[in-house]
Amino acid sequence: MKLYSTNNKEHFTNLKDAVLKGLPEDNGLYMPSHIPVLPKDFIDNIESFSIQEIAFTICKALFNSTIPENDLKEIVYDAINFPAPIVSLKENIHVLELFHGPSLAFKDFGARFMARLMSYFDRANEEELVILVATSGDTGGAVAYGFLQTLGIKVVILYPSGKVSPLQEKQLTTLGHNIYALEVNGTFDDCQAMVKKAFLDQDLRNQIRISSANSINIARLIPQSFYYFEAYKQLKNKNNLVFCVPSGNFGNLTAGLFAKKMGLPIQRFIAATNINDVVPTYLKTGTFKPRPSVRTISNAMDVGNPSNFARMLDLYCSTGNIKEEIKGYAYTDDVTKKAIKEVYEKYNYIIDPHGAVGYLALKKYLDQNPSHNGVVLETAHYSKFKETVDTELEFTTEVPERLAILEKRKKEAKQITAEYNLLKSYLLEKR
Ligand SMILES: *Cc1c(COP(=O)(O)O)cnc(C)c1O
Repeated sequence: MKLYSTNNKEHFTNLKDAVLKGLPEDNGLYMPSHIPVLPKDFIDNIESFSIQEIAFTICKALFNSTIPENDLKEIVYDAINFPAPIVSLKENIHVLELFHGPSLAFKDFGARFMARLMSYFDRANEEELVILVATSGDTGGAVAYGFLQTLGIKVVILYPSGKVSPLQEKQLTTLGHNIYALEVNGTFDDCQAMVKKAFLDQDLRNQIRISSANSINIARLIPQSFYYFEAYKQLKNKNNLVFCVPSGNFGNLTAGLFAKKMGLPIQRFIAATNINDVVPTYLKTGTFKPRPSVRTISNAMDVGNPSNFARMLDLYCSTGNIKEEIKGYAYTDDVTKKAIKEVYEKYNYIIDPHGAVGYLALKKYLDQNPSHNGVVLETAHYSKFKETVDTELEFTTEVPERLAILEKRKKEAKQITAEYNLLKSYLLEKR
């Protein structure tokens, strides 16, 4: 498999370097040089395959023997070890539940897969690899779970003390094994600055190997295409299919475009956002104007300059019409809150604020395209946003066992002030 940078299509990299480096030096994003079309036979008979078999088939075609089959199978089967079921609200509105992984959000697919690929590509190195992450809350959890007990890799997470939710803090500080948390008396920006300093510190890098778990690593995108196929498999009516994707950085939607390129019969995509609506605005006006993000109740989508937009444009530069294939809609918090209540009252389904934005967009789209059949990606379990959901529904929603269990676990974090030297000595001590 070869990959190019969106900023230089003539310069190719192999999968190993793309995964271990994360970003090309020219500040573009890695893209597969060839996205294969899967055999029609596979798609016609998709109902006979498990999600792991689907994932393995996609990887085999895409990686094109970069990784020996047995090794690849192990990576895929180990990473994708939880389901992605469809729940139908009505005949043409379905919800694809992507929250059955360990951190209860779709990012588990990407994080688990990336962790295993990194560990595989790095296996010949005897020296441990340290993944350094600064988090404002959510990404840290997915990365921590993703790398939990991964061979040869240690994760050090920096988070701002008192500025992540109690549940998020538990996800960062109770896993043990190869996951270490540093509770920084400072802001998220302080944490990020300390991590950046570490990467620039040659003296440190002479002594330990460090890497990042970048959210735009190509290894996170690829597994997100698996569940579009998995959704298609489960639908009884597979005609006029549209996917509605609650979006922030647009990785999830980009993975859907990959699935379509691989031959999955998808009519259209719906880009659903909160008021951070630079992409829906682009789809209407043709002007892409990044701006600072605004805080909302669907906070995992509070992105003012979506990084995967470059990949979306890249996919459409040679073929098709982006404005025809992707429709964009944006919603305020007030409308989103009402949608949480509406979905519960109409369908007896508890949807989280991100899914609710998707539901609104799909409903609007179906008003204009009544013959179409839509799937909303439910990107997180509602209990991750329990305060908002309970307030709107006016009762106390149930917390799943695997989340409730965290409350009883003991937090383990080393508290430090926001000084780079403390991070450095911690890393050297922990060697
Ligand atoms: C990350 C995230 C999103 C946004 O996904 P992108 O791929 O960045 O568009 C949406 N919902 C939830 C719950 C998320 O965690």
